[in-house]
Amino acid sequence: MKLEDRRDYMARCDRCSHCKWTPGMPSGRFASACPSIEYGQFHSYSGGGKNITAYAVMENRLDGYSAETLRSVYACSACGACDTACKWNHADTVDPLDTIHALREKIVSDGAALPEHAAAMDALSRHGNCYGRPASERSNWAKGLRLKDILVQPAPVLLHIGSENAYEPSQWPELRHVITLLQRAKVNFGLLFDAEPDCGGYAFDIGFQDHARDAARKTVELIARSKAERVITCSGEAHWAFQNVYPRLGVKLTGVRVEHITQTVEGLIAAGALELPARRAAETVSYHDSCKLGRLSEPYVEWAGRWTQAMGQINITEPPRPIRYGNGGIYEAPRRLIDRVSEHRVELQRNRQLAYCCGALGGGKEAYPDFARHAAMERLEEVRASGAGVVVSACGACTSHLREVARSAGVAVEVRGLFEFMARVEAQKETTA
Ligand code: SF4
Ligand code: SF4
Repeated sequence: MKLEDRRDYMARCDRCSHCKWTPGMPSGRFASACPSIEYGQFHSYSGGGKNITAYAVMENRLDGYSAETLRSVYACSACGACDTACKWNHADTVDPLDTIHALREKIVSDGAALPEHAAAMDALSRHGNCYGRPASERSNWAKGLRLKDILVQPAPVLLHIGSENAYEPSQWPELRHVITLLQRAKVNFGLLFDAEPDCGGYAFDIGFQDHARDAARKTVELIARSKAERVITCSGEAHWAFQNVYPRLGVKLTGVRVEHITQTVEGLIAAGALELPARRAAETVSYHDSCKLGRLSEPYVEWAGRWTQAMGQINITEPPRPIRYGNGGIYEAPRRLIDRVSEHRVELQRNRQLAYCCGALGGGKEAYPDFARHAAMERLEEVRASGAGVVVSACGACTSHLREVARSAGVAVEVRGLFEFMARVEAQKETTA
């Protein structure tokens, strides 16, 4: 979306700063919504502040992009907490996250992309992933497993892996347990293996919309070729991209049902197709809601109506415009899975739609690693305050990032992927049986 198309939305921001605060928090210590302003400590880092920067860029009132301006725009995980907080606390007609994406698109089109992001997009063009790794290494995680190549042996279900899961070895135990559970439940599924394209979500987040559209088209084309009826996503970023980014890019993923692996496994258990051990983990566990899998996965519904005013001051839309409060994300399936294998789960203070971002995604980490580390440390502190010794996430990017920061900073919190955690409980059963 072009910045000019967001003029009215930007104009409706009244600089109230409610986007900095999580609504209805019981304590001030964990009431902040925005990792960016916590890091930058200046208004321009907030959702509302970026809105002001965007307006100035649109009006051509900046003398180029200074290093400080770029830092305030990109030391940000595009987590959307400002967007949800703005709507819950104040107004549902501003949508700061959409403006952040439009601002980043404008910066890229002006040739001012950050070198770290330009390098990632160069890698995406040449290798099909943002890490610059050979496509032939994408399915190394599956070596030794007897799995179907869905383009050769048709299956009704396509298991979509996602780049960060495929290329990050610490995620491989998670993937392997997913395979174990699906096979145990006799699900007839296949994979794209090395042919699976990057989902394009990262490119969208950092403002490279053409790269994102290209990746989306390749993905949709391969899913259509697979003839799958159902796509199961293992990646939070890919799930968000399918539900939310592709419709914005005008790329239609039709004829298939998309669900996240936590929904699939939870459904299999509920239907009696999969049994889990009766034994449960004794330690106190907390769940970290990934922004991508949570509020940002709320399916996008296109709206093309018109704005009018009632009584000269109240904005109304005809037909009513769908408002994204983040209610449609994936929240309960992962929690129910944890509850099946653990005796005691506690909620973090900021949870579900109002979860605090760990800083892993959105392009901030690559350009400003100290920003991403700051966000993760804050989230780990929240875990510690909950009394949990373990934090579980259903998003590979969150798990890897939180784990790495906890390890390097010596934070006494164990970080686990959800399926890795379930595998560990099963292994405990085997050794104690
Ligand atoms: S983005 Fe929303 S919450 Fe933030 S300052 Fe603007 S109107 Fe207020
Ligand atoms: S997207 Fe997240 S990090 Fe960026 S300004 Fe909004 S709340 Fe802050």
